[in-house]
Amino acid sequence: MAQIARVVVDVATRQTDQPYDYAIPDSLTGQVEPGMRVVVPFGRRKVQGFVVALQAQADFNGKLKPIQSVMDLEPVLNPELLALSKWVAHTTFSFWMTTMQTMLPAAMKASYARQLIRTAPLPAAGQALFGDRDTIPYPETLTPVQAKQLRQWLQQDLVRLEYVVKNKARAKTRQGVRLPDAAKLASTAQTLSPRAKGQRQLLAGIQAAPFSGALPITTVAKQYDVSPSVVEAARTAGWLLPAVIEVRRNPLDLAVKRDQPKKLTADQQKAAGQFIAAVTERQPRTFLLEGVTGSGKTEVYLQTIQQALNQGRTALMLVPEIALTPQMVHRVHARFGSAVAVLHSGLSDGEKYDEWRRIQHHQAQIVVGARSAVFAPLTHIGVIIIDEEHETSYKQEDSPRYHARNVALKRAKTFHCPVILGSATPSLESRARAEKNVYTLVRLPERINRKPLPPVHVIDMRENTGNRVQPDFSPELLTALNTTLARHEQSVLLLNRRGYSTQAMCRNCGWIARCPNCDISLTVHRSQHELVCHYCGHKEPIPTRCPVCHSDKIRFFGSGTEKIQDQLQEILPAARILRMDVDTTRKKGGHAKILKAFGEQKADILLGTQMIAKGLDYPTVTLVGVINADTALGLPDFRASERTFQLLTQVAGRAGRGDKPGQVIIQTYNPDHYAIQYAAKQDYEGFFKREMFVRHQGKYPPYYYTVLLTISAPQETVTAQEAYRIANDLKPLLSPTAIVLGPTPRSITRINNRYYYQILVKFKKEPALGRGLHNLLQNSQSLIKSKVQVAIDFEPQQI
Ligand code: ADP
Ligand code: ZN
Ligand code: ZN
Repeated sequence: MAQIARVVVDVATRQTDQPYDYAIPDSLTGQVEPGMRVVVPFGRRKVQGFVVALQAQADFNGKLKPIQSVMDLEPVLNPELLALSKWVAHTTFSFWMTTMQTMLPAAMKASYARQLIRTAPLPAAGQALFGDRDTIPYPETLTPVQAKQLRQWLQQDLVRLEYVVKNKARAKTRQGVRLPDAAKLASTAQTLSPRAKGQRQLLAGIQAAPFSGALPITTVAKQYDVSPSVVEAARTAGWLLPAVIEVRRNPLDLAVKRDQPKKLTADQQKAAGQFIAAVTERQPRTFLLEGVTGSGKTEVYLQTIQQALNQGRTALMLVPEIALTPQMVHRVHARFGSAVAVLHSGLSDGEKYDEWRRIQHHQAQIVVGARSAVFAPLTHIGVIIIDEEHETSYKQEDSPRYHARNVALKRAKTFHCPVILGSATPSLESRARAEKNVYTLVRLPERINRKPLPPVHVIDMRENTGNRVQPDFSPELLTALNTTLARHEQSVLLLNRRGYSTQAMCRNCGWIARCPNCDISLTVHRSQHELVCHYCGHKEPIPTRCPVCHSDKIRFFGSGTEKIQDQLQEILPAARILRMDVDTTRKKGGHAKILKAFGEQKADILLGTQMIAKGLDYPTVTLVGVINADTALGLPDFRASERTFQLLTQVAGRAGRGDKPGQVIIQTYNPDHYAIQYAAKQDYEGFFKREMFVRHQGKYPPYYYTVLLTISAPQETVTAQEAYRIANDLKPLLSPTAIVLGPTPRSITRINNRYYYQILVKFKKEPALGRGLHNLLQNSQSLIKSKVQVAIDFEPQQI
């Protein structure tokens, strides 16, 4: 029997982010398993920790401290996830503690979350009872025999655990009743007062047709045609027994209309055939499904998932942001019903927790979710699908800086299952891997029914001098908007800039409103009468006079969605316009509301930021307009062209999906830029070849790997000093083929009163680099005192 538990404690420093040995006291023998959380003494504190292994002998020779209590009755991380958490921590230079926490739903994440057993007193097997909070025993108050019994019931799902964090994620329950035994029921007739007519009627009904299990009071009332107060009276009288019924929060509408698999086209069949074979034969292969928008990728995913289910396996499907792709979730749900669980940030903590538990207890075989769903506690995974695999949201920006695609590939290896990466505009990295046959390239080159892709007109805005009143609209776009409106068809307009104006400026002296905390100008939000910093959130009123020269000539420059909406309404007074951006979708369900209204044709124009480019499949949209295609092109990022091409191609794909032909109008000041030219032709392969050449010239991914070190501190001198010291420490570890750029101040050097410097390392193969960076992090711990932070980002999404 193991005597020692290896525990990673929740004390976030580099030195302590490793397992420590703890003794398992006799009272906890047999109750501690890897993947459970425990409370252990650490220094003079008591902290939470994860048990990562059990062993017979200690690595540490000295007197071991004992585990104080066990927080879980069953492991919250299974062996596969435990191993995965370690791998993610290592490959992303994060704390192991952090990656383990990342895998749990928010309700369980908070430190010192107390787990309660919703049972008081211990239930008889076969009935789950729920006590009220004060009478619930903590796990450590159970005797070993009680704990063992509970664990058995847990496994049989007879009782449930509930993790309580600030009352947020408690089980939702309803009052219910169940029947006493037959003898008791029979004797009730004698004891009931003749005047209790309702109860007598209820009793007669139940005797004629008894119900089983526990039912909500309202259900019983309806079933036997009495009022709910009668059922309550019966319960008070004691001849119906009280029961508490758990209501599982289900974020999906269970009444969805089920759909049937479609007969695949020849191209779809070719693709699906390969995927299905890989699922059946359990090949850990990676496919890149390059399919134009509307080519029927989703149907291929669904039929592949079906095959995994047929094989008794599960399926994991990642989508960029569920709020933006409600149609995708809806389609998976319509095909597979309650076998589907969804996981994403739009759910309440309670909903997320319930979904997570359904997955862990094998009650859901298919998980659809955003980035962090890649850690869903599925077992026996038969296929992993990543839709829109090029999306940047698959990479987490904060620690742990993991890319869901890499995690998916790792899990697929463990489970011997294929991964399908789908996109109309694959990332250069993935497409290059397909070129080298690391991934298998599968193409769907045509839209379903050979529906043509819409024609795209590129409008050169440098020549748009005629229209001084509405400088953001070309005559071509205005005409198209007008005719679309007149035909009662719908338009989608993209402008990837929120707010009213990007700058407030004094026409007299040139003063520009800037954020006091960041090196960036403030954005004008006219409807709130505010200037807002999009980096730190700072807000101030819009000045009526210049703070420098006191002139009243404050003018706004650069158009955001808010201003475009105002202008549009002026130009097309009859048009019904919906705006979708961060500001109009802050509330839960905000996206869904707007998309639903647009889908029901309650608006003529949907205007928005990039969030409108994804997933929209509305057949009535015949015009797509891009107000300004250059918003991303000017950014100091080597992926600027790729992002621009992807965004334009995605949004263009929203036009003409129905019977009526569509058209796309792109306004730009860079009409000759290859990203815009290829997007206009919807020519991914052409873009890929050209961009690969550019990347080769610049020694950028996918030809080189990149690691970005970001050093920050409250003083610029300290930041620079540390950045140079780190660069000097790093250089001797590298071979001559590696390229070190920097240290340089980041393009926006100061954010929220911290200064940021960067070092970019580009390399092909550097065996010593990984360990060097790990050492650097270990040593950088000593910098905490001077408030210096070092972040390491492998394959950053933005440079
Ligand atoms: P993608 O995911 O590649 O953008 P979708 O899966 O959304 O494409 O397919 C576009 C449209 O074609 C959808 O409305 C879908 O229902 C329909 N569709 C897909 N496959 C078929 C098929 N085999 N037969 C008929 N219609 C199909
Ligand atoms: Zn001024
Ligand atoms: Zn700011």
